[in-house]
Formats: sequence, C-alpha cells, structure tokens
Amino acid sequence: MTTEEEKALAKILEDHLDEEELTLIYSSGNETPPPSRSPHHKNRRWRQLNLKIKIFAGILFIGIAAAAGSAYYDLQHQNVEANTTPNTRTANVQKNDSTLPKGTKKAPDTTKVPAVSVTPSPETPTATPRITPTATPAPPVLPKDWNLILVNPWNALPEGFTAELETIENGHSVDVRIANSLERMLADARAQGLSPMICSSYRTMEKQQTLYANKVNEYLSQGYTQENAESEAGKWVAVPGTSEHQTGLAVDLVSSSYQILDQKQEETPEQKWLMENSYKYGFILRYPNDKREITGIYYEPWHYRYVGYRTALEIHEKGLCYEEYLDTLK
Ligand SMILES: [Zn+2]
Repeated sequence: MTTEEEKALAKILEDHLDEEELTLIYSSGNETPPPSRSPHHKNRRWRQLNLKIKIFAGILFIGIAAAAGSAYYDLQHQNVEANTTPNTRTANVQKNDSTLPKGTKKAPDTTKVPAVSVTPSPETPTATPRITPTATPAPPVLPKDWNLILVNPWNALPEGFTAELETIENGHSVDVRIANSLERMLADARAQGLSPMICSSYRTMEKQQTLYANKVNEYLSQGYTQENAESEAGKWVAVPGTSEHQTGLAVDLVSSSYQILDQKQEETPEQKWLMENSYKYGFILRYPNDKREITGIYYEPWHYRYVGYRTALEIHEKGLCYEEYLDTLK
C-alpha cells in the first residue's frame, strides 16, 4: 500500500469511525499511530489491517446483500406473476370479449374461466348463430280461436292446456262447446237409419300415454328397434301431447256394425254419410288418405275434428286437409 493510499484509508477511517472506536483501535495495538495523529496513531499496522477487513467485509456484505436482494426480487416477482396471472388474464379476456369488433373470431383460450364463456353478450359473434329457430316448432296458427287450435306431430298442446268437458253418450266426453253439434250430427245420421257410435273422444294425457306405449310394444314384439317402433307407432297413435283427442275437439266415430279401425271403415254406410255431411255440423275428416304426408298421420276414416261451421265448409269445398287450410290463412 502506498503512502497516498494509507493516508486515504486513514481519512476514511477517521471520517467513518466515531471517537470512541478510534480510541479503542489506537490504544489496543502496538502499532505506531500516524505522526499527525499522535498518540493514537501508534497502532497503524493494526488499523490498516482492520480497515482492510472492514472494507472487505463491507464489500462482501454489499455483494451478498445485492445478490440476496436480486434473488429475493426474482422470487417475489415470480410469485406475484403466479398469483396475479389468472386474474389478470381473466380480466383481459372479459375486456376483450366486450371490446371485440363484430365478426372478429376469438382465439381459443384454455385458461378462460367458465363465467366468461356462459356470459352471453350481444356482441359475441358466436352466441346467436348456435340457437337455431327450427329447433322448436312454430306456434300454432291463430291460437286465440279455440276451434282452430292446431295439434299435430309438430305442434304439441300448449303447456297447461285444459278443456271444459261435457259428457255425452256412453260416458264419452268432449269440449262443452261442441257437444250440441256432435249430438245433432249423430241424431241426424240415426234419423237416416244409420248406427254411428263414438268409440273414442276426449283423452287425458295418461290415456294417450297408455295407448302410445301399447302401440310401441306392438312394434317391438315384431322385432322393430325402439327407435323404429316409436316412429311407426307415432303414425297410428299420436305421441302423447300431440293428439287431437286431448283437446276435446275430436272423436272417433265408427259403424255399430263394424267397429274395427281400419280402412274398411270407409265402406260402411255410416262413414259414407259422415264424410258427406259432417261439415254441416262443423266437423271435418281430419286425416284424409291422400294427405298423410301433410298431416303426418295415416288415413283414418273415423277421426273427426270440430273446426267450426264456416271453416268446415271451406275445407270441404276446397278439398283441403286442415294443415293446408291453415296455410291459406297466413
Ligand atoms: Zn282419433
């Protein structure tokens, strides 16, 4: 160490150590203190060594502290990122969702929380096209007219539908508003020497379910798959909820002399008369033979539906089925 360096060190020492410490240092060793600082400078070699140790220790401390601090900062920074990353990303995703321009397709983001994906936003381009309006059948035409209610394979009864019933012959019930028309029609047919009879009228949902299940089982026993059996049964017995019999506006009329529900029913004098005259009482043959594709039901020369006098007349004159008639109203 040069003299200049020694002087500088002494200066540092005096500037940075307090008087008591200096006294202790200078009085404890055998070193000769610096001439200018007598008597304290007699321990000069020890002081230099001590100073070097202190400086070295200081540098070492600063180095360790810096390294430790850096490591600590890195650790903290990683923790902060780990803790805040999902929230930050979520916030960004939500913000991006609402700020995406229309038509912009979002990149898939696997970190997205469920809340984001279920929150419908009118500006989210993928939200609307997924809901196809064809998934639900169109509402029945003119539902406000009780006699024009449309119930078919594509139009189930409205939820909570109820019918006010009146019991007529043989315990059969129909909508109270058609009871008189039906009774007059049957009475007039009988007045012609015919013997029509009601074999089915208003049905509860439970009754319809039983009939449908029986028909499905009939096809299952013939080896049909469940799906095919249900499909085929639906062409003969309406799927529960889609039967006109549940409205109280439909009846199955047969000849007392031939009570089987098959196509031969059309050959009976009773059916011939009913097909010719039922419109005069507000009834129509609901499932004509040549309209099965439109009605969704096979030919039923026994199922009559009340639609009202004016409507029945128009359907009769134009040779339409009920679905076709409703189309003319649109
Ligand atoms: Zn029927």
